[in-house]
Amino acid sequence: MLVIEAVSHAYGALQALQSVSLDVAAGEVVCLLGPSGCGKSTLLRIAAGLEPVQHGRVELAGQVVGEPRLSLPPELRRVGMVFQDFALFPHLTVTQNIAFGLSDLPRAERQAQAAHWVARIGLPDLADAFPHTLSGGQQQRVALARALAPSPRLVLMDEPFSGLDVTLRDRLRDATLSLLKDAGVATVLVTHDPDEAMRMADRIILMRAGRIEQAGAPLDLYNRPVSAFAAAFFGSVT
Ligand code: ATP
Ligand code: MG
Repeated sequence: MLVIEAVSHAYGALQALQSVSLDVAAGEVVCLLGPSGCGKSTLLRIAAGLEPVQHGRVELAGQVVGEPRLSLPPELRRVGMVFQDFALFPHLTVTQNIAFGLSDLPRAERQAQAAHWVARIGLPDLADAFPHTLSGGQQQRVALARALAPSPRLVLMDEPFSGLDVTLRDRLRDATLSLLKDAGVATVLVTHDPDEAMRMADRIILMRAGRIEQAGAPLDLYNRPVSAFAAAFFGSVT
């Protein structure tokens, strides 16, 4: 579904990504894992179309959506995004936030779809609440529903659980995974937490200083790290 081919990216003199390639199939959850500053968010932003492609190529469902001098804007990529701070619209209710990306639908259908998602995430009592009155976990679920409601082909999540307390995080990871799997979307989830990647990923891509250090199934990386860096990274999983 998503193919990233030899993407390199510089911010001025700083080389943030160096010839990174990866692909993500429909229904697959791929975790981008690595220490702060290794280029995870940059790669996600390039996949979303929020950052131009300087070198390399991005394809979605077989179509080139980004290469040097060509960029399909984010709103035309059918990509859902969930960020660390959730970025809900403060002046819109839960239902209105979820309905935001459904403006192509007739009004009645838009309402029905939004109500369906409010129920799916278990917040029917909060349908008319505003974001600032919600807990962090509730906001996370609204952000996920808003991303999934327009039937995206790809969901990009940047540290979606990092602001939340530990017990809540476990439950939300499970709930998030089942919503993603039900939707059958390709997902790229960015995290710096190896434990989170082990729990959620079909495949982990471990990054180091703008390059891919190792990619594979979670247990492969855990049991057969290719370097001292990879071993040390997974050594912190409890
Ligand atoms: P974190 O885990 O801290 O979120 P990350 O892996 O997401 O880190 P990026 O945000 O992709 O890392 O940043 C990669 C490198 O590029 C870092 O050295 C960062 O300082 C730099 N960088 C990121 N965004 C910009 C920008 N807009 N302008 C200049 N440098 C940037
Ligand atoms: Mg980041």
